[in-house]
Amino acid sequence: MTRLPTLLCTAAVAATLCGNVLARDLVVHAGLLYDGTGAPARHEVSVLIHDETIVGVRDGYLRPAGAAVIDLTHATVLPGFIDCHVHIGAKLPSRVNATEDWLTHSDIDRAFDGAAFVRDMLQQGFTSVRDVGGGDDTVAVKRAIEAGKIPGPRLWVSLEPLGPTAGHGDPRSGLDAALSREGWDNGRVDSAAEARLRVREHRRRGADLIKLMPSGGIASTGDDPRQQLMSDDEMRSAVETAHALGMKVAAHTYPPAAIEAAVRAGVDSIEHGSFATADTFALMKSHGTFLVPTLTVFDVFYATARDRPDLLAPGTAQKELANDLLPKRNLPLAVKSGVRIAYGTDIGEGDHLLEFRLLVDNGLSPARALLSATHEAAELLGAADRIGAVQGGHYADLVAVDGDPLADPTAFGRVQFVMKGGVVYRERGAPAPVSP
Ligand SMILES: [Zn+2]
Repeated sequence: MTRLPTLLCTAAVAATLCGNVLARDLVVHAGLLYDGTGAPARHEVSVLIHDETIVGVRDGYLRPAGAAVIDLTHATVLPGFIDCHVHIGAKLPSRVNATEDWLTHSDIDRAFDGAAFVRDMLQQGFTSVRDVGGGDDTVAVKRAIEAGKIPGPRLWVSLEPLGPTAGHGDPRSGLDAALSREGWDNGRVDSAAEARLRVREHRRRGADLIKLMPSGGIASTGDDPRQQLMSDDEMRSAVETAHALGMKVAAHTYPPAAIEAAVRAGVDSIEHGSFATADTFALMKSHGTFLVPTLTVFDVFYATARDRPDLLAPGTAQKELANDLLPKRNLPLAVKSGVRIAYGTDIGEGDHLLEFRLLVDNGLSPARALLSATHEAAELLGAADRIGAVQGGHYADLVAVDGDPLADPTAFGRVQFVMKGGVVYRERGAPAPVSP
């Protein structure tokens, strides 16, 4: 028996999952509240919840008749956090050999990894996450969460990133050319017409959004992160088709020229953006394009390249060491430019709260760091009317931390309570992380 069912059944809200599904009212007494919109702190308030939805936030500690009370009077209540760049089945690079893992695990294995890691993400306070590069296994995990079969955040998923032959998303790069496997061409795009087709195929298979690989990558064998690899017309075709279907587009991009081409093609977010200049950020700001800096993944991979280069994909340790420190150095330029920043870690397994510390340590104010993981992230997902704020009409997705994170940013790391959709998934005390 894992800890979770015990938690659910001992919580005041047990009726939903441990017995009959009943209409129910809850009230959360919050000692301090940041509602995620950038509004000033509120002290001693009541968050009124009916079923899975917040119905209002009132001053004082109210006790409406028939409502169960959750006492968070000694904590700071925040909206559930949103991580806009995860790969739910990705193991920490310091723990496994990348090539061995790739060759010895099926998509079904990865679905089970993902199921374990999304449970950890929820325990850490992430009630919504966006997976930007998965497969049918990722869609299956999303459906399992939605059906209540496994605990996890609300998931927005892309399928295989779209990119060219020999690009960052080409699984054949670096392998014996005679090797092949079904599905390896699911993201391959070498023309505008192919881009259109892939977007439609991904939609059919259950994708919520589209991921592009306009530039080379760092953790992949045989490509150059400083080159633009997708053509402008391929990007435009993918973006036009995706937007016509109501899907957002995220673009993994490092060099300024490729970022600018992706922004002009209309992508909604630039992932990483590591080598951007002031002019690049100014262009992004004028187009309303989000930056998702993903400082966490660079921290994690830099340490592995330094300490255990043998675990990384062939030939990539040098790329990691040469490039992974740049995003931190570049963040102040992004902050100064006023570009919109959304929170993203680019990991699956591991500490998704680390990004708060890295953002604040490298120039983002604690208030903007909170916004990046709440309102701004919700805007990037296109779901700001339902998530990212503690307001009437939003899902009852709440996190409580020990301390005031805007006065002491280390408090972001002290999550003691997690609620998603009115159901308590974590109470005081840290559960053991799950590792398959
Ligand atoms: Zn990624």
